[in-house]
Amino acid sequence: MANFIVTSEMEYRVVRFNVAAGTLSNLVCLRPRGYQPADRLSSWGMQVPTACCICSTNPESRDHLMLSCSFALTLWSEIRRRLQCAVPAFSDWSDLIQWSCSSSPAAPMQLRMLVVQALVYSVWRQRNNMFHNQLITPPLVVFRDINRHVINTINAFRTRKKFKDLMTFWLI
Ligand SMILES: [Zn+2]
Repeated sequence: MANFIVTSEMEYRVVRFNVAAGTLSNLVCLRPRGYQPADRLSSWGMQVPTACCICSTNPESRDHLMLSCSFALTLWSEIRRRLQCAVPAFSDWSDLIQWSCSSSPAAPMQLRMLVVQALVYSVWRQRNNMFHNQLITPPLVVFRDINRHVINTINAFRTRKKFKDLMTFWLI
């Protein structure tokens, strides 16, 4: 936990979930220390390109990368096709955290958190690969990894009560 800045009880719950699911890594968490999007680095006076590494058309920020970048929107579109609940268009980060910490019969909190964690990890990874290597994987290919991660994690924890029926809520 020492590697992460946790700014609210809800983000703390997401972090705790990741630890419990055994999937925590430096990139998975929501506010990894040592990596910050361009808007934050720029606000500290660092000279960095401020345009989004992926789409180049908007200023880079956490909310843009995860919620409104064309890359993330394609991933969210695929996620909406697989979840059996209406996933809202998130206006900001707190919206996303609020949704991921909520639960409904068709989309339990464990599944929402698992999906958000996989998406955040994948988008950070693609952003860094573009920033450092000028390489990007098409979003539909990245979604295949997200899908596989969700399925593998549910399978790995299927003996736990809260994960037992999760696969029935993720359409494959
Ligand atoms: Zn973008």
